[in-house]
Amino acid sequence: MIIDDNHYDVILIGSGAGGGTLLGALSAAGHSVLLLERGGVMPLEDQNLSEADLFRKDRYHPEEKWFGTDGDPFSPQMVHAIGGNTKIWGGVLERMREQEFSGVKLQEGPSPDWELRYADLEPWYERGEEIYRVHGVAGADPTAPARTGPYPAAPRPLEPFLVELRSALERQGLHPYDLPLSWSDSAVDPTGDAELFGVDPVRTCSNVTVKEHARVVQLHVNPSGQEVRGVEVDIAGQHWLFRGHQVVMAAGAIGTPEILLRSATDHHVRGLANGSDQVGRNLMKPQLTTILQLATAPNSGRYARGHGITDFYWGDKNVDFPLGSIHSGGGVLQDALFAESPPVLSLVTKLLPDFGIDQLASRSITWWAMSAVRPDPHNRVLLRGSQLQINYTPNNREAHDRLVYRWIDCLKAVESDPLTLVTKAAPVHPRGEAPLPVIGGACGTCRMGSDPATSVVNLEGRSHEVHNLWIVDASVLPSCPSVGIGLTVIANALRIAEAMKASL
Ligand SMILES: Cc1cc2nc3c(=O)[nH]c(=O)nc-3n(C[C@H](O)[C@H](O)[C@H](O)COP(=O)(O)OP(=O)(O)OC[C@H]3O[C@@H](n4cnc5c(N)ncnc54)[C@H](O)[C@@H]3O)c2cc1C
Repeated sequence: MIIDDNHYDVILIGSGAGGGTLLGALSAAGHSVLLLERGGVMPLEDQNLSEADLFRKDRYHPEEKWFGTDGDPFSPQMVHAIGGNTKIWGGVLERMREQEFSGVKLQEGPSPDWELRYADLEPWYERGEEIYRVHGVAGADPTAPARTGPYPAAPRPLEPFLVELRSALERQGLHPYDLPLSWSDSAVDPTGDAELFGVDPVRTCSNVTVKEHARVVQLHVNPSGQEVRGVEVDIAGQHWLFRGHQVVMAAGAIGTPEILLRSATDHHVRGLANGSDQVGRNLMKPQLTTILQLATAPNSGRYARGHGITDFYWGDKNVDFPLGSIHSGGGVLQDALFAESPPVLSLVTKLLPDFGIDQLASRSITWWAMSAVRPDPHNRVLLRGSQLQINYTPNNREAHDRLVYRWIDCLKAVESDPLTLVTKAAPVHPRGEAPLPVIGGACGTCRMGSDPATSVVNLEGRSHEVHNLWIVDASVLPSCPSVGIGLTVIANALRIAEAMKASL
């Protein structure tokens, strides 16, 4: 093993929504930071602006295989790159609702209290929206929480057929709003991400060192087991040891518990920082179903997500539990998630045999239904020998099914409205639920809390057991809301950065 000569203030592992954002905050404060990222810079042609080869099998799947609940191997949909999964995300950045921090009563029981309140995150949500240049309209989403300021930029213009569709939805009594989007205004790569807004602005600063294709394999602790003294990294098959004052995990909701579990010692037999046995447990990923609607006029198939609908967020007529949110999907050729729904594609092929991907892209409108899930300790990331096992059974199913059927009813109503000219009535609306490999929105596997018996890090993101170990990624989220968690991960990383600066 090669031992690096330098000693950094902070070693940061992972450059996605949490890590990329934290890098910007710490380097601006003058601290020396070493960023270790398993991937490299993602080529432009592989990013959000995708062509039809999005449908090429396993385009966004690293070569590794994990084992699923049934014991079968699968290849996860995620990317290892500077910017992490934000390189392929939809860029929709929404805030969690106030009530979700104190625990919401879901159909299957309450989601947990965060021990933090919306007010604790609000300034950081605002800062995160500035950094990621979120385009949106304050107050447009009827369920959005109170905010102190406007969005940094106005929403982007919608495709003309989506403008017409909005009026059609409004005629049904629904309240569609412009989804808040991270947008860079760059002609070649418009979707904002953690590389563009987190890493790039600081990567040439003298206090920042970025190592790409650097896969962290293990953390090494001192004899008492209370401090990380070295971070072992595989770089091109050669093992290196890096040393730093503070070590921050931002390897994502799967990568972070993986590294901690691999770092077991005599002091930490179940894995590092795992006295509570919570590392890897409580894995959550939102329930996601894509629903297809036929369009009358062709569209480009390449556009960002447009409308949000939260009319059923908290329930429905005679339903007093939350159902979730609806998004109009990005163009079929642009939305990476859509390519992960083979059930939809096979159904479309059966129903419309002459419908190739190109026709599908230009003659359809996609919708996403998203519902919350509850933490369950049996849903977990664990090691099976040297490989990862993901045990996962979705919950809160009835709420999600109700949302999907309710939305299909709304689409039928829109289609039977004689004033609506942009959609076409269809006998069925093909739909498909995102399968286990769609795991890029996962969270909860190293949750934060004040009680060391039931959480991995405290409310400032610091390990209860290992003094110089922090976690700033999606792992620390105690619950999984019905909106994307990207902005909450960003805001929480900015919040934790303040506590961390005080320790440096
Ligand atoms: C297709 C898709 C669309 C999405 N759309 C949205 C959206 O519109 N809105 C939204 O809010 N969210 C969206 N998400 C989810 C969002 O991208 C994630 O919630 C967010 O990126 C999580 O941030 P993170 O910092 O926890 O992890 P990540 O962004 O996943 O970053 C983790 C980083 O750690 C690196 N890493 C992992 N292991 C190691 C290791 N051993 N050594 C070194 N580095 C390592 C990875 O390579 C990666 O760069 C989407 C996700 C996907 C996949």
